[in-house]
Amino acid sequence: HAKRLGGDRVEIFRPTLRSASVGVSELETDLKKALETDGITVSYQPIIRLEDRSIAGFEVLARWNHPTRGAISPSEFIPVAEQSGLINDLGLFVLERGARQLAEWQRKYRMPAPLFVSVNISSRQLLRQDLINDVKAVLSRAQLMPGTLKLELTESVVMSNPEYSAKVLERLRELGAGLALDDFGTGYSSLSYLQRFRFDTIKVDQSFVRPNGRSARPVILRSIVALGHDLGMQVIAEGAESESDALELFQLGCEYAQGFLFGQPMMPEEATKLLQAEATLESA
Ligand code: C2E
Ligand code: MG
Ligand code: MG
Ligand code: MG
Repeated sequence: HAKRLGGDRVEIFRPTLRSASVGVSELETDLKKALETDGITVSYQPIIRLEDRSIAGFEVLARWNHPTRGAISPSEFIPVAEQSGLINDLGLFVLERGARQLAEWQRKYRMPAPLFVSVNISSRQLLRQDLINDVKAVLSRAQLMPGTLKLELTESVVMSNPEYSAKVLERLRELGAGLALDDFGTGYSSLSYLQRFRFDTIKVDQSFVRPNGRSARPVILRSIVALGHDLGMQVIAEGAESESDALELFQLGCEYAQGFLFGQPMMPEEATKLLQAEATLESA
């Protein structure tokens, strides 16, 4: 089994973990099957321009509707995909889907500013040699406006191998991919890496966006937005659930927000309808 994974990893199973690992490998088998049989789909969550509440873009999020267990959350199956190597197939699928969907939307709908789509990239994907070629192929096939396909990476993903990541990110940027730093504020490393990696966008983690009873939260939120802007980045806030969240973000000068207030992750048809309605309003 370890050999199939490339032989570069040593897996240690402790007896107490045996029952848990049986569950995981079952999930792994099912995930492999799902990838081969269209069991994995993608949903799109709108990202809104706070200034006029128009649609700026969408984040692509993987979905798995398991035949017997029903919907399984990405926070459960992405780690399984990472650990088993299935993330390479899954990641490429999501990347291709997202790029193709964006190309179609850019062709069909005139928006005040170029629509973007962002795709999550895991650490195993980033460390894989093929990523650059995959992104290059996907971009040239889709003929997207430069910077409109954004790759979202978390701090822990880039920090697992900072030297190599810096080089890969530079190459991806040269290819015309946008780069967003996901879940900002949840990591533990020093801020100096922000200078080293040239992200064009930071996504403020939800924990700083919604009131959580800690009095320092608004101060931290304001500082994160200012830091992003001072470093020349655009700022997207994650997890805006209420009108007051959105108002506070707008007042802090945050450009974009994403969250249940504006829309849940939705099926492609529904996202298309949303865009269509806005494009119609545009010409009306
Ligand atoms: P993420 O990239 O930070 O994505 C945002 C998550 O926050 C999504 O959860 C989204 O549904 C949720 N969210 C959005 N707005 C709100 C809100 O207003 N309130 C609350 N409470 N939550 C909100 P989801 O879809 O369950 O995905 C969880 C994580 O799984 C993602 O976090 C991402 O790290 C990972 N993931 C999802 N799809 C993919 C994928 O295709 N590839 C990789 N590598 N990771 C993925
Ligand atoms: Mg994300
Ligand atoms: Mg995020
Ligand atoms: Mg998150």
